[in-house]
Amino acid sequence: MRRYALLTAFGAVVAAQGASFPWPNGAKAAVCLTYDDGVDIHLDHAVPDLEAANLRGTFYVPGSSNSLDARMDEWREIGRRGHEIGNHAVFHPCLRVSAKGARREWLQPERELERYTVRQMIEELRAMNTTLTALDGGRVRTYAYNCSDWMAGGESFIDPLRPLFVAARGGEDEELADPWKVDVHYVPSWMVRDVSGERMIALVRKAIDTGALAVFMFHGVGGGHSIDISREAHRELLGWLDKHREVVWTDTFRRVMEHVIAERKRSATR
Ligand SMILES: [Zn+2]
Repeated sequence: MRRYALLTAFGAVVAAQGASFPWPNGAKAAVCLTYDDGVDIHLDHAVPDLEAANLRGTFYVPGSSNSLDARMDEWREIGRRGHEIGNHAVFHPCLRVSAKGARREWLQPERELERYTVRQMIEELRAMNTTLTALDGGRVRTYAYNCSDWMAGGESFIDPLRPLFVAARGGEDEELADPWKVDVHYVPSWMVRDVSGERMIALVRKAIDTGALAVFMFHGVGGGHSIDISREAHRELLGWLDKHREVVWTDTFRRVMEHVIAERKRSATR
């Protein structure tokens, strides 16, 4: 049965009483663990932590990643072990001034989305899909918006990218996605930085209470990136997800979103 949801003042989705999305094996919620920017620490810390907890993650690797160049065989290998390698553009373009008004001083001028066109961005995303197909042979891909930005040259590229990806991940506030209603090409995620394991688990508990999808956006894990969380916090969250797998389904963003799309279609044809 299809139920509707209310957006709270905090942006969290609170499902109506009794709402339930048919997650696999009777799980009450779903979680995606995603890691951005293709840095060495993902191979060195994130993947070992995930596999120690029998979990699989999604890695959004830009084509310009030094780690992808230097350790390509290892990146290919984690794909074979069930992790997802997703598209994060070739050159990681972002807006110089974010939607919230923050000025990104670190951004190279050539990579300003203000100077891109939508066509240029789509061509770059297509080229990155080709690179990833060469890496792992896959043809079904998801994308993570660089810096969570979705405008190029003053225009949205959300609609133009739909044919390229089964789903796409946005960000960055602490919010859950309603699997019935979310735009699968702009799924919210929480960009975690310096937060405890306990605080991340609290969001998963909220997802369980509401039947929602919680998507975490990591960068560094115990170092390796200026946006970082401690390895202890990371392991605490993953250990908790492992122990509670009968109530929370944790899988790659692609697999979770394919399930969401299939269930929505099934419900619509009932
Ligand atoms: Zn990024």
